Amino acid sequence: MKQQKRNLQKEMDLVREMLHLYCKKHHTDSPLCEDCEKLLTDIKIRNERCPHGENKPFCSLCEIHCYHPITREKVIRVMRYAGPRMLFFHPVMVLKHAFSTLIKKQERLKND
Ligand SMILES: [Zn+2]
Repeated sequence: MKQQKRNLQKEMDLVREMLHLYCKKHHTDSPLCEDCEKLLTDIKIRNERCPHGENKPFCSLCEIHCYHPITREKVIRVMRYAGPRMLFFHPVMVLKHAFSTLIKKQERLKND
């Protein structure tokens, strides 16, 4: 039960982040416009009621598609916009980490 909640929280964090990206670009400068706020609430409710329970996949991978068609279309649009951009964040972090590790290694070599 705890694990399920944690996964849900993780997914909701990601969804919120993606909505922010999308909304900022397409709607408003404030964190979320009214429409996107509603969409986020809707996604949260669907997630909590998901019949997959503990083994819930990401909604984009799910075969049930419990969203209302209009909501689903909005979600797909947001995911399509924000998905590839979200992927960028993590490689950059990984690269930064790898780079600083490399620098540290070289510094250590110099000092030897
Ligand atoms: Zn918006």
